Amino acid sequence: MTSTPALVAPSAGAAFEARTVEHRDLRDDDVLIDITFAGICHSDIHQVREEWGSAIFPMVPGHEIAGVVSAVGDGVTRHKVGDRVGVGCMVDSCGECEFCKNGEEQFCSKGAVMTYNGRGYDGEATKGGYAQQVVVSERFAVKIPDGLELDVAAPLLCAGITVWSPLKRWGARPGKRVAVIGFGGLGHMAVKLASALGAEVSVLSRTDAKKDDGAALGATAYHATSDPGVLRELKGTFDLIINTVSADLPMQTYIGLLRPLGVIANVGLPTGNYEFAPGAVVGGSRVVAGSNIGGIPATQEMLDFCAEHGIGATVETISADQVDEAYERVVAGDVRYRFVIDTSTIAVPA
Ligand code: NAP
Ligand code: ZN
Repeated sequence: MTSTPALVAPSAGAAFEARTVEHRDLRDDDVLIDITFAGICHSDIHQVREEWGSAIFPMVPGHEIAGVVSAVGDGVTRHKVGDRVGVGCMVDSCGECEFCKNGEEQFCSKGAVMTYNGRGYDGEATKGGYAQQVVVSERFAVKIPDGLELDVAAPLLCAGITVWSPLKRWGARPGKRVAVIGFGGLGHMAVKLASALGAEVSVLSRTDAKKDDGAALGATAYHATSDPGVLRELKGTFDLIINTVSADLPMQTYIGLLRPLGVIANVGLPTGNYEFAPGAVVGGSRVVAGSNIGGIPATQEMLDFCAEHGIGATVETISADQVDEAYERVVAGDVRYRFVIDTSTIAVPA
């Protein structure tokens, strides 16, 4: 067993405690990673607060992990001690089904093992990145290219890949008008990636508070949606909308912002249902789509693209004792644009 300091949520919604947790001895295909930074994703908050239904406690959240390999199992071939690597939302999958073979492990027929709030195929509860170490199968550790610092790379492992998938699938490229709803962790990565892919990008945020950042990150337009006149003016404008909002949204209104054949790809996971009339999609042959993270090959492709284009997340680094407060700030929309925990600050009381 490997013992490591971690931030543990003892029960739903409770404050974090620094405790020592155990990871399994390395299997043949495992790597041990010394974690340097872990991003705070809104999905961590949804799960710690049981907003998606019953969760496994005690919980060590964190699926935006960046660090350095510190030990390898006997059969490991992809990584070696000293390699800079990242881990995202998954730590295992069957490796044999059509989806795994196609590099879409998130759709594994046996069920991919999630990085935390999940169970490995051995039945053990998984523990995530708010910790100083993690053990994962080498297949689920991706290489962080030299050009990317580990703090700005960590959020790419969830926020980055989650918006990369629908941008690539639905063709964000020169000549395409892309709107990003919700300018937070996922949203700011969608703006950076869509603009690097050559699309014309608009930010749709609730207020004008982050207007200057929109242009700085690559958007050519910024609209405050609290003004209902704005949504009327934007009717029929976009080829692709990436909806990253963590709360319920009037879907029909946003479908109306699409051009004919346009797509709204939803990645935000609030609990309410989408509501829209059939005519909202039938009339313009529009698509309401969803998108779930991304597979390991696509994650590596996205990281390599980010390194090539000098793209990292825009982060605010915090210490372990600031995580509870950071959760409140994320929910209040007070983050620019991702909190990243410096895991060296996790101190277990004697
Ligand atoms: P985040 O940093 O909190 O950003 C969400 C943004 O949504 C906020 O910045 C805010 O943007 C907007 N928003 C928040 N509350 C709102 C409200 N009541 N009404 C309208 N807009 C509101 O969260 P995140 O980490 O980017 O995650 C966003 C969502 O994606 C979460 O639900 C998360 O669970 C989900 N997610 C899904 C996947 C997937 O695979 N599909 C992966 C990761 C995360 P403005 O301030 O600009 O309005
Ligand atoms: Zn996430």
